[in-house]
Amino acid sequence: MGVDEHLADILSVVGPLSPLDLGLLDAHGCVLAEDVVAPGPLPSFDNSGMDGYAVRAADVTRPGTVLPVVGDVAAGPASPLRVQPGLCVRIMTGAAMPAGADTVVPVEHTDGGVASVRIDRVPVVGAYVRRVGEDVQAGELVLEKGSYLGAAQVGLAAGVGRSRVLVRPRPRVVVVSTGSELVEPGTPLGPGRIPDSNSLALTAAALEAGAIAYRVGIVPDDPRKLLDTLEDQLVRADVLVTSGGVSVGAYDVVKEVLSRLGTVRFSKVAMQPGMPQGFGTIGPDSTPVFGLPGNPVSALVSFEVFVRPALRRMLGAEPLSRPQVAARTTEELRSPKGKRTFVRVRLDVRDKTYAVTPVSGAGSHLLAGMARANALAIVPEDVERVNKGEQVQVMLLERRSR
Ligand code: AMP
Ligand code: MG
Repeated sequence: MGVDEHLADILSVVGPLSPLDLGLLDAHGCVLAEDVVAPGPLPSFDNSGMDGYAVRAADVTRPGTVLPVVGDVAAGPASPLRVQPGLCVRIMTGAAMPAGADTVVPVEHTDGGVASVRIDRVPVVGAYVRRVGEDVQAGELVLEKGSYLGAAQVGLAAGVGRSRVLVRPRPRVVVVSTGSELVEPGTPLGPGRIPDSNSLALTAAALEAGAIAYRVGIVPDDPRKLLDTLEDQLVRADVLVTSGGVSVGAYDVVKEVLSRLGTVRFSKVAMQPGMPQGFGTIGPDSTPVFGLPGNPVSALVSFEVFVRPALRRMLGAEPLSRPQVAARTTEELRSPKGKRTFVRVRLDVRDKTYAVTPVSGAGSHLLAGMARANALAIVPEDVERVNKGEQVQVMLLERRSR
């Protein structure tokens, strides 16, 4: 099966999650499922843009004008002070403009006086006054449905008075590793044992993709235990991700257990790394389940190519794929005939163009190379060799926390 065909299969099953009303900080990093409209203007009242003096501009026609200061207004509840002709008020940034005043003179343009003030520059009428509605008008659409809620968007929603918004929630991803050779990282290894790195890497990858991720950890190659674990986890999963046990060996427990359910298909996908792939749905809610291969690089590359786009679809986020750029390769790249190869590379800018250099051999157990890579060069199915200096498409693996 081709890579695109397998992905299309997955995306035909996975849809955006139903919208949920969330507090702004829980909604951070999600995609809006409603338009956010400002009920009133921003700023909501005329206020001072500087620390200084609220004056009537008509009173200050010459540098060196001295005005009596009749009081102070600070940010906070509006002051009852009124600025009569020939007088002024000391004012702080964000304080409501007192009635009568039309202009703010910054303290830097004065002698800073308290009882009276000498103004050294003639102000322009209306200077340093932040006008009602100059940022946002009442009734204005400030955040559109489908837009991503980053820090600035969270700030704007709060700024127009919202505490909650309707968003597509983060999918809950449950990550299970299978393998009787696996031990919890940090605990002593017996002979033939290895630390379970996949469930940590895949949980981290799910978090980076914007999901809520639960790491279940290790399940031995025992069909009963795997089935029990998956059944237990279904209640809190929008997606299940397993690693290992999907190839053709004896004890390939994921394949054994999930094939029996009839709704999960195991395919040989024409890619390297990551050929054996399982995907389908299980449980009463038809929860999508990904059976990723066990080799650590295969697991992570499969996550990038298949799971991440599915999670983005659930989040309602666009585009589904990582950004790609064209880059020149500094070394020859090889790819088996008929397979799409994802080459672990380091991407940098050289002579103002992108260049990639492989950082690892092709072995799908070579995790250190994967950790050095910041991108995957994509060698298409019909290409067996990319010569040094030729262009190749590159998928960027920016490591961004959510
Ligand atoms: P499998 O797909 O189960 O045949 O595993 C393929 C290879 O990946 C074997 O060498 C496994 O030991 C290794 N492997 C499987 N699961 C993990 C894991 N969770 N962490 C690290 N290596 C793993
Ligand atoms: Mg295994």
